[in-house]
Amino acid sequence: MKIKVCGLRVRENIVHVDQLEVDYIGLIFHEESPRFFSDQQLPDTMAKKIGVFVDKDFELIMNTIKEYQLKAVQLHGKESPELCRKLLKSDLEVIKAFAVDDDFEPSVLSDYSDSCSYFLFDTKTHKHGGSGKKFNWDILQSLDYSLPFFLSGGIGPEDANAIRSLRLNNLIGIDLNSRFEDAPAIKNFDKLSAFIKEIKPMKYKINEEGYYGSYGGAFIPELLYQNIQELKENYLKIMESDSFQDEFIRLLKEYVGRPSPLYFSKALSEKYGAQIFLKREDLNHTGSHKINNTIGQILLAKSLGKKRIIAETGAGQHGVATATVCAREGLECVVFMGALDVERQQPNVQKMQMLGAKVVPVESGNKTLKDATNEAIRDWINHPEETYYLIGSVVGPHPYPDMVSRFQSVISEEIKNQLKQQTGNVNSDKIIACVGGGSNAIGAYYHFLDDENVKLIAVEADGLGLETGETAATTAAGSPGIIHGSKTILMQTDDGQIVEPYSISAGLDYPGIGPVHAHLFETGRVEFIRATDDEALKAAFELTALEGIIPALETAHALAALPKLEFKEDELVVINISGRGDKDMATYQKYIESLKHPYQPPKMLTQAEHEDVNGLFIP
Ligand SMILES: *Cc1c(COP(=O)(O)O)cnc(C)c1O
Repeated sequence: MKIKVCGLRVRENIVHVDQLEVDYIGLIFHEESPRFFSDQQLPDTMAKKIGVFVDKDFELIMNTIKEYQLKAVQLHGKESPELCRKLLKSDLEVIKAFAVDDDFEPSVLSDYSDSCSYFLFDTKTHKHGGSGKKFNWDILQSLDYSLPFFLSGGIGPEDANAIRSLRLNNLIGIDLNSRFEDAPAIKNFDKLSAFIKEIKPMKYKINEEGYYGSYGGAFIPELLYQNIQELKENYLKIMESDSFQDEFIRLLKEYVGRPSPLYFSKALSEKYGAQIFLKREDLNHTGSHKINNTIGQILLAKSLGKKRIIAETGAGQHGVATATVCAREGLECVVFMGALDVERQQPNVQKMQMLGAKVVPVESGNKTLKDATNEAIRDWINHPEETYYLIGSVVGPHPYPDMVSRFQSVISEEIKNQLKQQTGNVNSDKIIACVGGGSNAIGAYYHFLDDENVKLIAVEADGLGLETGETAATTAAGSPGIIHGSKTILMQTDDGQIVEPYSISAGLDYPGIGPVHAHLFETGRVEFIRATDDEALKAAFELTALEGIIPALETAHALAALPKLEFKEDELVVINISGRGDKDMATYQKYIESLKHPYQPPKMLTQAEHEDVNGLFIP
């Protein structure tokens, strides 16, 4: 959430407010305003200085820009789209303000949608802002605006909660003014500071009741109440204790091999015209990010005195990671796996068995991840006392999504440090990850969530394509509902029956997403895109040919984002390489075969596609 503090005038006050690390400091160049800015010298600020104008012409605005080194303009009058466009072309951020009341006519917005950076919605008064009055925020719900916007108009210290619970796509920032003043143009530091603390970091984290916005919670049968309650009361206490942290960090380092490298891919960078880095979770022990979470949870289960561990698995990576930590701790391990997945992920099944786990093939439904999860929950209900359910993604009832996010957040913590060391920047411009339940993605995003300049991109598995219905792209094909203990977005029929998902990748073949991602999707913080089976396969062969890294099929979906996105040359892009492709060799082999015999089923390819793939050194 960007914070803009508007209507400052006094030098010391500006310096003071800048210490709060706000994003914009607004100076009003409208003579009739009680906050009219006419000082001659301005301090340097970390915040961008933005000039607020009402019906001024281009020349005057540009002169003011130069004089005060403004980076952005906010236009509060009847400025035309042409003027906005001219300013936008002059390398300025342009915010067009609209006064809103119950009669607001939303069609005016469309004229401005390609000539501004942001909209700002303010209360309609006979003056131009700074009235201290709110408008009816519900109106914003029905607007079909194409640009991110700032909310303005009478926001006060008591509004933090209301703003945090607003569910508005494209709400990117808030504008604070008269309600945080001691006198016109003199801002109250303490009031601002308290408010910003409340609003900034909380936006994408879980609240006291276990919700991310309207998603999350714990929808569980009575029989599991005790288990969830026990976990809820203890997880943070245990996780934050020194003894836990020492052991967790030691194992990540000595057993998993962390930190995983951040590798600069020269070949991908040249091909796609950006500075592309690969976060190598594939190099972890057991071959994916899953181990970060299983190490965390097994230590927690041990602290709670549990002796029997159950887990669900799709691709088998979570099953292997769970069987691995159970072997290390000498705990009984039962892994539920869809019968179809047992078939297509044989190497992982064999590993789990060698590690001493019992693998239970699940024959219900589509025989994939959802069905395995149902079966694991059923087992848990039948053995609640001695059993710990070790969930493999940011799904399930509260506190699992938060707990798993925290364990996986080590990924983004390392990315920040490594970027700093390797490039001098702490932030990436874009971070790309695939999303099944969403644990590798949230791990890669976690420490960047509050920095809205970092663009976060999630890639969902689109199977044969959304229009065929054979997809696992949950945000595109789904709607709000409850699955596996939490409220989230899932693929369902009109009467709430779960729609069977489809993806070539077992780890992404799931009809829901974690509640945190439902929230990140709905607030627009994360951009969700899709990649089909074919696009993912191509991307897997591309990375293999260019870098000698065979990615997991899940990861290949994240890589498939590259041709779909636009980059600037110097942009820093991090792709989370969630896992390695050993387990997927049978699928990759089949794909090669299908290319060798192009005129036979299962797949027809165009000539262009052939050349494309043949160019990637396939025999
Ligand atoms: C399990 C898995 C995924 C998908 O799970 P998330 O919780 O969405 O991360 C992605 N990549 C690999 C390699 C996996 O094993």
